[in-house]
Amino acid sequence: MRTKNNVSGLSVLAKISLLIIAAFTFWVLLHRAPRQEKDVYPYLLSISPNLVKICAQEIGTAKTVSWEDLLAVRSTLSEENARPLIEQLQKKIAFTELTSGTLSKQIMKDLQRHREILIRYPFLTPNKYRFPVVGKTWFEDSFGADREGGKRRHEGTDLFGAEGTPIINCRGGIIEQLGWNRLGGERVGIRGDDGNYYYYAHLQAISPKLVKGKRLETGEPIGSMGHTGDALTTPDHLHFGIELPDGEWIDPYSFLAVWQFWEESPVNRS
Ligand SMILES: [Zn+2]
Repeated sequence: MRTKNNVSGLSVLAKISLLIIAAFTFWVLLHRAPRQEKDVYPYLLSISPNLVKICAQEIGTAKTVSWEDLLAVRSTLSEENARPLIEQLQKKIAFTELTSGTLSKQIMKDLQRHREILIRYPFLTPNKYRFPVVGKTWFEDSFGADREGGKRRHEGTDLFGAEGTPIINCRGGIIEQLGWNRLGGERVGIRGDDGNYYYYAHLQAISPKLVKGKRLETGEPIGSMGHTGDALTTPDHLHFGIELPDGEWIDPYSFLAVWQFWEESPVNRS
């Protein structure tokens, strides 16, 4: 009898252990960073803001071709090769049914993949992301520039403007960091719904409504432009950074230029 009790006791213990392991595995799977597909950001960052502007002009208000279809074709093919495909798209031929003519299978495969990326990662699509500065601002591509005499590199874009200029959230997500740190000064970090970490630094003031761990929607106030942290002696600016889920900081310049363009193009705001 005693042995039997021990056995059933063990099996209950084993069952509980298995349950705990299963629950833990589930939790890990649920909370792990999304897998980063290697071709996504190299492709998106290779698209110049100027190409986006050209496509916006081409698509106009008629929108006979979908935005992602047009941008995929224009960013993958030369004008000569793009033209016949765009004509087919204008005739409402589905993207997957396009007649490729002399284009190689590989090029058509790249084209399909680029379209898929543009749909799943809509950084360049109108109205998906907001430009973070509300008001007059100027910025250039300073990603990778030396900081502290070469000790570190600049991992973002500096958007200059008047102290107090309102700053808004470019992408809805959860407030992950809030308050003071040495370099960033008054800073806010948002874990966007796309998995990326959006970093806003040197703020004059943070919006008092922000609570760590709570949601902030796209376009909601972050705070106001300032020069806090290591920007104490520099002109007022917003330091804006994007960190991918795998920890890599990407150059946000071209995205910012496109978002600013969409803000200023009311015709493209649906
Ligand atoms: Zn900066």
